[in-house]
Amino acid sequence: MHTPVTIIGAGLGGLTLARVLHVHGIPATVYEAEASPEARAQGGMLDIHDYNGQLALEAAGLMAEFRGLVLEGREMMRVLDKDGALQLEIADDGTGGRPEVMRGELRQLLLDSLPAGTVQWGRKVSGVHALGGGLARGGFRRHRGYGPAGRRGWPLVAGASAAVRRYARVCRYVVRRDLSVRQRDPAPGHHEGGRRRDDDGAPAGAGDLRAPGARRHAARLRGADQVGWTGFAGIDFTEAAAATERIAAEFAGWAPELTALITDTDTAPVLRPHYALPVGHRWERVPGITLLGDAAHLAGPNGEGANLAMLDGAELGQALAAHPGDTQAALSAYEQAMFPRSAEAAAFEGAELHGVDSADNTPQGLLDMIAEKGQ
Ligand SMILES: Cc1cc2nc3c(=O)[nH]c(=O)nc-3n(C[C@H](O)[C@H](O)[C@H](O)COP(=O)(O)OP(=O)(O)OC[C@H]3O[C@@H](n4cnc5c(N)ncnc54)[C@H](O)[C@@H]3O)c2cc1C
Repeated sequence: MHTPVTIIGAGLGGLTLARVLHVHGIPATVYEAEASPEARAQGGMLDIHDYNGQLALEAAGLMAEFRGLVLEGREMMRVLDKDGALQLEIADDGTGGRPEVMRGELRQLLLDSLPAGTVQWGRKVSGVHALGGGLARGGFRRHRGYGPAGRRGWPLVAGASAAVRRYARVCRYVVRRDLSVRQRDPAPGHHEGGRRRDDDGAPAGAGDLRAPGARRHAARLRGADQVGWTGFAGIDFTEAAAATERIAAEFAGWAPELTALITDTDTAPVLRPHYALPVGHRWERVPGITLLGDAAHLAGPNGEGANLAMLDGAELGQALAAHPGDTQAALSAYEQAMFPRSAEAAAFEGAELHGVDSADNTPQGLLDMIAEKGQ
């Protein structure tokens, strides 16, 4: 007899879990804070890796549909130095292991693969706690009561939500109570701007572009122009033009096609601080509750978060299917694999990938990382 599963958050992790459970005939309900699937733009592109995100889609039985979403030519990548000289170009010949798709289309694919009513929109969970005996209870903001299981509790909760301000409240009975999600110090972040030009006239062409420099980088990643830097804290982003000018000044002397990534924009710059949980963070097993995706291992932007969230969801679903009637064994098996996997990804990122806070953030460092990681 399979236990119904309650999932908090209809992100890629929670939806993959719901889908894999559905494939195995296990009922699930997803509570999502947003009012509808269209409540928020889902952002740009994601590359889905053959060693994690694609494994999840296979477990979900959605590989053929996923292939239909792949954007041709988007796996191309170029590395430039600050003078705009090409250091590396990786072509997209259609055989790479990291095809790009639109995030919104991938999410919609997962939503469409679930029975009607699986996702309950506009249900913001305000807290969850364990009742013992493998049951948990949660409450909703703006809704009286405790959800469909009432005061009896939910048989299993898989938290898939990491909204930073809500993290401690939703997850505090799973992680250490004093844990908070912090900006890394010295708080690196990136700024995103919208581009005026079409791809034809832009330095990046169709694919990604990265230009690392000491303690900063200019990039176009998955369709978004970005600047990484550690000095954003001193900038007033409510003054868009002044903020853009100030950021561009930090890149004085860089090639014009790179500074254009900052200045050639239609939209105000948006600051996206990088938040992270401590690398290797884990918790004691809590009967009936676990976490996945960003809620379990929020890390800096290492290009792995969505992929890991999906693999978490798939593996948790498979573990629950493999242990009917023994939720504790299923959650233990899932967590034993998830903890080291996410710690390894976060440690790699912290040391190498987005070392914008390092003076050694050089094109050669990036080339070495690409050679090591094989991406
Ligand atoms: C700018 C940016 C670029 C990125 N690029 C990449 C990339 O290229 N590749 C990659 O692999 N990863 C990337 N990531 C990381 C990736 O987006 C996340 O790791 C991934 O979305 C995590 O999925 P999730 O399902 O765990 O959580 P989320 O996608 O955050 O989903 C959580 C869901 O829970 C809902 N929710 C929140 N609180 C509550 C509540 N209290 N009750 C009910 N529902 C709630 C939210 O509305 C949301 O729908 C990027 C992240 C950012 C910010």
